[in-house]
Amino acid sequence: MNPHQRQQLEAHLRSLPKAEQDALFKRAAEQRRESQKKQKSERRRFEDLDAPRPGSTKRKSDPVRLIALKLLAQDLAQGKHAADEGGPDTGSHAPATQEGVVVAVTKRRCTVRPAAAFDLSNPDRPNTEEQWGGDIDCRLPAELAGRQQSEFCVGDRVQYSVHDDARTGEPEIDHVMQRDTVLARRDPHTQERRAIVANVDAVVVVVSVVAPPLHPRLIDRYLIAIEDSWVERVGGAGGAGSHADDPDPAQAIVAVNKADLLEGLSPEDRDAELAKLEPYRALGLPVILCSATHEQGLDELRHALSGKTVAFVGHSGVGKSSLTNALDPRLGIAVGAVGQSHQRGRHTTTSSQLHEIAPAAAGDEPFWVIDTPGIRFFTLDDMTPAELRDSFPEIRTLRRGCKFNDCTHTHEPGCAVRDAIHPARYEAYTRLLDELETGSAKPPPERIRPHAKDPRPGDPIE
Ligand code: GDP
Ligand code: ZN
Repeated sequence: MNPHQRQQLEAHLRSLPKAEQDALFKRAAEQRRESQKKQKSERRRFEDLDAPRPGSTKRKSDPVRLIALKLLAQDLAQGKHAADEGGPDTGSHAPATQEGVVVAVTKRRCTVRPAAAFDLSNPDRPNTEEQWGGDIDCRLPAELAGRQQSEFCVGDRVQYSVHDDARTGEPEIDHVMQRDTVLARRDPHTQERRAIVANVDAVVVVVSVVAPPLHPRLIDRYLIAIEDSWVERVGGAGGAGSHADDPDPAQAIVAVNKADLLEGLSPEDRDAELAKLEPYRALGLPVILCSATHEQGLDELRHALSGKTVAFVGHSGVGKSSLTNALDPRLGIAVGAVGQSHQRGRHTTTSSQLHEIAPAAAGDEPFWVIDTPGIRFFTLDDMTPAELRDSFPEIRTLRRGCKFNDCTHTHEPGCAVRDAIHPARYEAYTRLLDELETGSAKPPPERIRPHAKDPRPGDPIE
């Protein structure tokens, strides 16, 4: 029994009804008496096998308890105590260790929703707070809290223990599971890589037209961060997962909000604004024109997101909250308030939060949106030029035709990228390459705190 298994069994044991605990201990004590009898006859010199050895003041573990835990493990393997698992009558019968998804994070704490609420393969999936029994406010163990900002975020799948007795403690995170994807950014202050959201299937880059106007450069930066979201698989049975030659990042989707404002433009200006989207369409990305206030393009957006867990990223003011509300009016997320705070449960949250969106059309599935206020700017930081090249999916494909293996696609003869890539994307590439080489990347003056709950001295208040 390794320490983790023991911890799980201990928690499970605590969660059992008193009568079942007593029965287990009774069986364990009996078993121990039997084995002691046997051992005594074999090794008479031990009078009490449990007597503390001279010099040791404390016995490390209670042998009856250990036997009880082993019996419990055997029972569980045979499907006994199964009545305690996952039934609607949770309370003190709740299984000890459960799996869930982090839906909000605050300092040293997080809110976890039981994994069953995300299981679309279950036709009886609990889809209301009442059905899944409410989100659970969990404590982060000290070891994890110390690494919280870099290694723990909304979307993480976790194992947590629920203790039914308030005196024995609060729910606590036991384990963070392997991620499929992670969207991260460098902290402009410390260069540390910070996870923003984990395990998203897609990232929706929300931009607006007219107010604020479309900034393709911003889209290019977001796309680089998305391309970089794949996670290297460690261990495992081989085959599954991503590696550098075949990365498997989150899907990128561009949502162009405030399309209603295009009406007020001259035809030339409108065409000029929309032409900026052409390179992304050419890349094969879904580019969805929508309006949160005029309920335009919402069905298309819902359809593209159906069944997925997605993050909304984009400058504040482009309409991320408005869009989320428009997708599911039950949510009532505060709009227009920059640096908004949602009162939710025991948390006041100004950081990312996960919302379930109910399907609106027949055939669509629900999906999950993670708000990410506060990411305005991705710096490239210590990315190498080769990594930058690999962050442009079209360059990854086209480069196979280049004469030189290490072609930078800037001056080399026989380059297959330079003439084939969309000119606007080529310009973005060379500009970013230049930024890497000259170290000229600077966050815009209005950059915001990297983590809203963790202000640093000198940080501007958003
Ligand atoms: P967020 O910071 O990205 O979450 O943006 P908000 O949702 O808070 O919206 C910022 C402002 O844009 C608010 O004043 C909204 O009313 C406005 N807004 C949002 N969506 C639209 C839209 O589709 N059309 C127009 N005209 N205004 C919008
Ligand atoms: Zn080339």
